[in-house]
Amino acid sequence: MATPFSKLAELCKALEKTTKRTEKASLISAFLRTLEPDEVALAVLLVVGQIFPEFDPRTLEVGWSTMKRVLKKGKQTTLLRDELSIRRVHSTFSEIATSKGAQSRKLKERLLVSLISDAGRGEVEILVRIIFGEMRIGVNEGVMLDALAEASDTPLNVVRRSLMLTGNLGEVALIALTQGQKGLEGIKPELFVPLKPMLAETAGDPEEAIKEHGGRTVFEYKFDGARIQIHRLGDEVRIYSRRLSDVTESVPDIVNLVQRFLPKVGTIVEGEITAVGPGGKPLPFQDLMRRFTRVNDVQQATEQIPLRLHLFDVLYLDGTLLIDEPYETRWAILSKITPKEMLAEHTITNSPKEAVAFLKAAMKAGHEGLMAKRLDSHYNPGARGKDWLKLKPSETVDLAIVAADWGSGRRKGWLSNYHLATRDGDEWRVVGKTFKGLTDEEFRWMTKRLQAIKVSETDCTVSVRPEVIVEVAFNEVQRSPHYKSGFALRFARITRIRDDKGPQDTETLDQIRAHYKKQFKVKDQL
Ligand code: AMP
Repeated sequence: MATPFSKLAELCKALEKTTKRTEKASLISAFLRTLEPDEVALAVLLVVGQIFPEFDPRTLEVGWSTMKRVLKKGKQTTLLRDELSIRRVHSTFSEIATSKGAQSRKLKERLLVSLISDAGRGEVEILVRIIFGEMRIGVNEGVMLDALAEASDTPLNVVRRSLMLTGNLGEVALIALTQGQKGLEGIKPELFVPLKPMLAETAGDPEEAIKEHGGRTVFEYKFDGARIQIHRLGDEVRIYSRRLSDVTESVPDIVNLVQRFLPKVGTIVEGEITAVGPGGKPLPFQDLMRRFTRVNDVQQATEQIPLRLHLFDVLYLDGTLLIDEPYETRWAILSKITPKEMLAEHTITNSPKEAVAFLKAAMKAGHEGLMAKRLDSHYNPGARGKDWLKLKPSETVDLAIVAADWGSGRRKGWLSNYHLATRDGDEWRVVGKTFKGLTDEEFRWMTKRLQAIKVSETDCTVSVRPEVIVEVAFNEVQRSPHYKSGFALRFARITRIRDDKGPQDTETLDQIRAHYKKQFKVKDQL
C-alpha cells in the first residue's frame, strides 16, 4: 500500500518539536518501519532534506518567483484532492529535475502546481522546505544513521561503515530495514561504487601537526585542484568527484593516462587533479572548473586546459580492500603502481624546521599548503578527523585591540588576552581573541599601554580606545555565532605591534567577509 505523504509531513512536524537526538532517532525509526521497501530510500532522503542521493547530480532548479506563482495557483484548485503519496512526490520531483528544453519552465511549473494542489496545508510547507533544501528539523545524516541503527537493531558503527562504503544513504536504509545487521555486514566495497572520501581537520602550523601525530608524521603537498577517486577493472576506468558524481566523461585525458599504468586487476586510487598553466605551474581552481562545466567540446578543453594528476592513496587492489591498512603500507603499494611524477610530493619528518621548508617549497611550486597524515592511520571513509590535518600558510590582517583580559598563571598581572576588532562603519566589531605571539617584555609594555587608554573596566576585562594596532596571523575565517561581527579568526596570533598604524589603517569587516568567502569555492559542489 502506498504511504501517504501526509505521514512524512507529520513526522517532520514531530521532529521539529523535539531537540533530543535520541527522540528524533526513535520517531524516524518507528516511521521507517511502517514503509513499503520501495519507499524507504525515498523517505530517508526527503527527511534529511535531499531529493536525490548525494552522487546524483540532478537538481530541481526551481526559483522563488516560480514557487510563489505555484503556491498561488495551487491554492485556487484545491476542491478535489488526490491524496499525495511519498512515491508520487518523488516521481514528480524526478520529472521536474529531468525536464529540459524550451518548454521546461512551464512543465516544471505545471508539475509543481499539481503537487501543491493535491497537498494538505501541513504538506505544502514540508514540500516547499524540501524543494529549497531547508528542512530545519535538525535531522542530518548522523541522526538518520542513529535511526537506522535503531530500526534494524544494528550497532551504529556497522551502519556508519555501510554508508561510507556505498556512499548511498537510501540504499543503506533499505538494506538495514529489509535485511538487518547481516545484510549491512555483507556490504563489501565494490569497484565502480565510490567510497566517501576521508576528510581533514585544520592545524595551525607544522609543529602542531607533528605533535598531534605523536612526534613524527608525513607531509604531502596540498594541491589546489579537484579530488578524484579512480576505479579500474580491465579496460574499464571510471572517475568520481569528491561528491561521488561520475565525472569520467569530462576527463578523457586522465582516463587515457591511468590506462597506461594502473593495474587492470581491480584498483581504486585517490588523488587530486590540477590544471596546468604555462611553465608547468598550476592554474587557479576556476580554470580547472572549466573542464567540468564543458559538455560539448570536451576534446577542445583537454587541449586548452591540460591536467596533471597527483595520486596520494590506494584503497583497493586486486580483490583486497586496503582501507584498514596503515598509511605507510598503502603508500608503499601506491608507489609501486604509480610512476613517480604522478605521486604526490611527500616527506616523513619529526622536524618542524624541515616541515616549514617543505611548506615553502609547496607554495613556491604554486600549491595550496600541506597535508599531514598520521603514519599509522587507517583510511576512514567520509570521516573528518585529526588523522589528516590540512595546513595552509597563514595570512595576516591588521586589527585594533579594543579590550584585554587579565591573565592568570604565568601571565598573572598582565593584560594578556586581547580582543581583536575590525572596523564596521563607525563601529568596532570583535573577530577574535588571542594571548599568543608576544614576548614577556611586550606583555609588560602592552599592559601599561592599554591601561593608559582605558575607557572602562570589570573584574577581568579592561576596555580600551582602539588605538593599539596589531598585525594578526590566522589560518582561517569561520562563521561565529558568538561575535556580533559574525566571524572569528582561527589560530589567531599577534605577529607584530604596528606602532606605525592608526585605527583608520585596520581591516574592515567587509574585508574579513571577503576573506571568508574566498575560502569557499565551487570545489565542494563538484
Ligand atoms: P579542504 O577542501 O580545504 O577541506 O581540504 C581537503 C581537500 O584537499 C581534499 O578533499 C582534497 O581535495 C585536497 N587535497 C589536496 N592535496 C591533498 C593531499 N595530498 N591529500 C589529501 N587531500 C588533498
